[in-house]
Amino acid sequence: MKKLIIANWKLNPTTLKEAQRLAGSISSKAKNTVVLCPPTIFLSQVGFKNLGAQDCFWQERGAFTGQTSALQLKSLKIKYCIVGHSEKRATGDTDEMVNAKVKSLLENKITPVMCVGFGTTVEQDDLEVVDILRHQLDIGLKGVDASKVIVAYEPVWAIGTGKNASPEHAEKISLFVKTKYNASKVLYGGSVNLYNAKPFLDQPNIGGLLVGGESLIPSHFNQIINM
Ligand code: PEP
Repeated sequence: MKKLIIANWKLNPTTLKEAQRLAGSISSKAKNTVVLCPPTIFLSQVGFKNLGAQDCFWQERGAFTGQTSALQLKSLKIKYCIVGHSEKRATGDTDEMVNAKVKSLLENKITPVMCVGFGTTVEQDDLEVVDILRHQLDIGLKGVDASKVIVAYEPVWAIGTGKNASPEHAEKISLFVKTKYNASKVLYGGSVNLYNAKPFLDQPNIGGLLVGGESLIPSHFNQIINM
């Protein structure tokens, strides 16, 4: 079955030319469904079938300097938008803000990719993880039809560190999120690379991957999207 693989380019690359070159080097005929999330400023000029934004604001218009709304993303035919990434939570996004963003995206028919995850150590057991995730999910999905939302499980200690969670742990969490919250898909993210991606994709309840650093290396990313 096809899995969903989302590339989060974060604040890379630094020029439009490079962004176009990078997008052009990603296979458009991959085995799995691929979504590229370049920086917002490049979204309208990076040609790729499925594009996503890395964040949005919950209000559609008005006096909100520097923000980008779901309504504006819709005008560019953007299909997906990440919300609640730990790097946004670290600069102040709360579960309530994430919830407001999810609602605004759904109103604009954009699929939210809601990131959940926490923790600074690998030493947390599954029950402890579930307990804290429950809080993020209860608030983030409050009043929302979760069957229209993709949840990305990203342990914070695994993001950009070179230390990934085990596929078995991610599978357990995915099963929990699917059964308890009815999310349309659960992705795993956190130091996914060419060498560790396959066992995650082989798990029945992991619907795909959210890939950061490795998505900037086309020779690696093109192999991941074809696994
Ligand atoms: C991310 O930013 O969502 C992510 C998973 O990053 P990385 O793959 O670099 O750990």
